[in-house]
Amino acid sequence: MKTPIGKECKYYYADFHRGHNTQICRLFEGSQDAPFWQPNLCQTCPVPDILRANAAETLKLEATIIRKFWGFKQYVKVEAWCSQCFTVVADPMRGCPNCSRAQPSIFHLPEQQE
Ligand code: SF4
Repeated sequence: MKTPIGKECKYYYADFHRGHNTQICRLFEGSQDAPFWQPNLCQTCPVPDILRANAAETLKLEATIIRKFWGFKQYVKVEAWCSQCFTVVADPMRGCPNCSRAQPSIFHLPEQQE
């Protein structure tokens, strides 16, 4: 579903049908920041760009709302980890350095035996 700023995000859900006015970020579900999430935070969120760059199922994202200047400036900070090797992923756009290295590549094909 597209966020209020027009980027595709699998965590965003909105329902405006038949008098409903519901907007939810499923990434914050169950977190302590869930009550404070507002749709305008999508403007600062890197998740849609991460999801577009890296669609790995093993990439798990956790988001927190960072508040600065007594809450006048808020933005979304995202941390990522790999559910395959359970390490922190420093650059979620590129993915897990351990598991992406283990993936077979056309440059690492086994040599054929004659
Ligand atoms: S805050 Fe980020 S993850 Fe949540 S709906 Fe908006 S863009 Fe998606």
